[in-house]
Amino acid sequence: MVNMIAAGEVIERPASVVKELMENSIDAGAMQVVVAVEDGGRKLISITDNGSGMDADDLDAAFESHATSKIREIDDLQGISTLGFRGEALASIASVAQVRAVSRTRESDQAHCIEIDCGEKGRISPCSGDFGTTIQVRDLFYKTPARRKFLRTANTELGYVSEQFTRIALARTDVALTLTHNNRELYRLAENQGARQRIAQLFPMLSAEPSGDFVEAQTNERGIRIRALLGRPSISRTSGQFQYTFLNGRFIRDKFISHAIKEAYRGMLDPNRFPVIFLFIEMPPCEYDVNVHPTKIEVRFCNSNLVHSQVLGTLRETLLGTDLHVPAAMPAAANDAADRQSRRQGIADAMAEFFKKHRPADVQQRLDFRGDIPSADSSHPARPSHPPVSPAPVPAAGQMDEPRYLQIHDSYIVEQTEDGFVIIDQHALHERMLYETLRQRVQRDHLESQRLLLPESFQITDGQAAAIESNVELIARLGIELAPFGPRTYAVQAFPTLLGGILPIEFIQDLLDLLCEKSGVLHGEDLLNEVLNMAACKAAIKAGQKLNDAEIRQLLADRRRYESTSRCPHGRPTTIRFSISELEKQFKRT
Ligand code: ADP
Ligand code: MG
Repeated sequence: MVNMIAAGEVIERPASVVKELMENSIDAGAMQVVVAVEDGGRKLISITDNGSGMDADDLDAAFESHATSKIREIDDLQGISTLGFRGEALASIASVAQVRAVSRTRESDQAHCIEIDCGEKGRISPCSGDFGTTIQVRDLFYKTPARRKFLRTANTELGYVSEQFTRIALARTDVALTLTHNNRELYRLAENQGARQRIAQLFPMLSAEPSGDFVEAQTNERGIRIRALLGRPSISRTSGQFQYTFLNGRFIRDKFISHAIKEAYRGMLDPNRFPVIFLFIEMPPCEYDVNVHPTKIEVRFCNSNLVHSQVLGTLRETLLGTDLHVPAAMPAAANDAADRQSRRQGIADAMAEFFKKHRPADVQQRLDFRGDIPSADSSHPARPSHPPVSPAPVPAAGQMDEPRYLQIHDSYIVEQTEDGFVIIDQHALHERMLYETLRQRVQRDHLESQRLLLPESFQITDGQAAAIESNVELIARLGIELAPFGPRTYAVQAFPTLLGGILPIEFIQDLLDLLCEKSGVLHGEDLLNEVLNMAACKAAIKAGQKLNDAEIRQLLADRRRYESTSRCPHGRPTTIRFSISELEKQFKRT
């Protein structure tokens, strides 16, 4: 049996410890798990649960290799319903760190504790403690410097920890979970939350988007129960990192399922974008094998075609049956004249509701931003005004039909059109156009850049220096020229014209952060896309930014050019149309 259980390298970094220990708590039936880490988990990982606990003998045995309480014979491997089963996690963790475990069963009024220092096991001794289990893991890999060196910065490690926490939090929305870092609370998730609530708490940036509400799909056929929360095409991403699939409460990655998801959205999304989706599949454990991958993130389905077709069918049918556009919800025109007052109120309410819902969540800056007026505080360099998408002259007033427009709430532009009016989200539109332009140019060649009159120097960390070295090509494609300028110092010598609206050093700092964080995870075009997204978002006009006449005209002119040439109408909505006939109906003119 020992040989049947393929051992794997399970402990790679603090996040792997968090995963294994949280899984053990869940397997022990805990309804509450508290995770605390320090220094990204490099210094301390502590996990406390209110699960079944262990008596003295079990606590001692739990740290032996291949000691598990979850399977007893070979046949059990064919129907695993627990998250763990190999019995190697605790033994592996304790062989590469200082571990202290305290545990007490519900039946006993005495807790026991044990300490293991890199495989050297101390004696079990009685101690005080609540029922349940606490495991503390200190100084991971401290006796194996080669592996310790492989750990990244605290922030990067924390990112991985938080991802593992998120996966379990989504898989088990019934369990109360807390995550703290250096005593600061990052998440406190109440027990028995629904998936929607959890998602809202774990991914505030998704729900903050206009149309960030999810479409629900549900089926239970042919032995496979499927539940999914589907993101609308408008909140799609440039990578699959917001696709979460769970099989019987275990986060998995599976190429058949990813393919089914992609197919389900066919025609609704630009082919190189990824929908946001949370997919929960339940089926008998004997229908698949989890014992195929060291961290059990992959499984082997007995009938993968069936899984594929069930997932595809469920998602596709739901998507096709849903209106995925963001409508401006106007109340239906009432027929009764006595209703006039309430109808008017209804329109006002709908408008108010609409603006409340569609206001970008983070109004980042409230600057009075008339490009020609230098910033009042001269200690800060004045930001250059925002770049047009294509460097074309602003048409002089009166040259064409005089455009009629109005900026409201410093965030939206209302423009009269031939048959009504449109409301434009200034940030979303500018961001989208910049992104498309950046992408087209980068695909053709590298971005056109401008030499700085005075090279600006900046300090970097070793990690960032490594990121620069391993991404030379990407940086060159962006039209950024960096030159070493002393120890841990670089200078920017050229910067892309299209990003003229951002301060070079500010952008490069963000770029380096992103490269440090994503280099290991994303590659090639995916990484480049992520960078372009970030660039477009940063360089775009912000919500809450007052625009002067010339800037509004430029934006509207760019929009006309963009709409006539863009191949890609999808993505987050930038414009909402109202027709005059709709208005006339509302005002009882017809
Ligand atoms: P596995 O989870 O594969 O069984 P582990 O090495 O992770 O192996 O854990 C070994 C055993 O220790 C488990 O089978 C379980 O009986 C016990 N155990 C571990 N963590 C806990 C916990 N938090 N509460 C109760 N029992 C636990
Ligand atoms: Mg385990």
